[in-house]
Amino acid sequence: CQSDEIFQHFERVATLIIMPHAMVTGALKGMVALVTGGASGLGRATVERFLRQGSKVVICDIPASNGVELATELGKDSSIFCPTDVSQEKDVQAALSVCKEKFGKLDIVVNCAGIAGACKVYNFNKKQPHLLEEFQKMIDINTVGTFNVIRLSVGLMGDNKPNEDGQRGVIVNIASVSAFEGQQGQAAYTASKAAIVGMTLPISRDLASTGIRVNTIAPGLFKTPMLMACPEKVQKSLAAAVPFPSRLGFPEELAHLVEVIVLNPMMNGETVRLDGALRMQSK
Ligand code: NAD
Repeated sequence: CQSDEIFQHFERVATLIIMPHAMVTGALKGMVALVTGGASGLGRATVERFLRQGSKVVICDIPASNGVELATELGKDSSIFCPTDVSQEKDVQAALSVCKEKFGKLDIVVNCAGIAGACKVYNFNKKQPHLLEEFQKMIDINTVGTFNVIRLSVGLMGDNKPNEDGQRGVIVNIASVSAFEGQQGQAAYTASKAAIVGMTLPISRDLASTGIRVNTIAPGLFKTPMLMACPEKVQKSLAAAVPFPSRLGFPEELAHLVEVIVLNPMMNGETVRLDGALRMQSK
């Protein structure tokens, strides 16, 4: 297991050296970002990219995550960990207070926190005692959590002095291609992510007068602990299903798109797929 971790570490470093999207430009210098789910996978890659590009980052994740160690490793002057359950208003408020106290403002929010898992409606006539609870939990974390972070962040972002375009802040949500192509056993996950896609355009219009942009990325298959939880055989067949490039995405590739969205003022109210043209089979 340890050698797996070492291998993954070298793979990440190699990716950063070889890939053009790893270029360091300092484009986010002076900005402050809050990244939920920031201790792992896509969120962590976003945190690391933002720091390399000169931003300060508040890492929000559940207390059981390795957020404390990560923030220590990344440097306490430019990052801080806030134990946060995004579905809980008080946790999100507390994280925003820490953000204001430590860094004085908030420019970027990335909603990466999420859970996956099966929630299968297999027989309408048979009792499935935990089905509703599972559905509710998925919606609470993935959808309500995202909505909570958006609605509570706009106050702090709204205090920013607008730039030449009148922009005060940017929000990027992470949904999933599942929002468009739900698979068997994925009713809850699909619904939770489809709701994020659905809220993106109306919220971007609601917030237009405040100078806050809102966009969503719908990732396909990315090499993160969430996907690594699948058996290796399944991972291989998933990777093979991606038309091009025929592999799983690297988290850094998603982090690159987050930065592109943050930096492009015309990008607003949009949901962008990042999936190598993946379209799921119905079975
Ligand atoms: P991951 O499991 O590595 O990271 C998810 C993070 O969210 C974890 O650190 C976890 O602790 C945190 N989290 C879970 N519940 C939380 C809560 N209530 N409050 C705060 N943090 C919480 O998974 P990932 O692959 O990096 O996933 C990131 C996001 O991308 C998720 O929303 C996921 O649904 C989405 N996504 C991932 C893929 C993929 O292929 N990896 C594909 C499509 C969408």
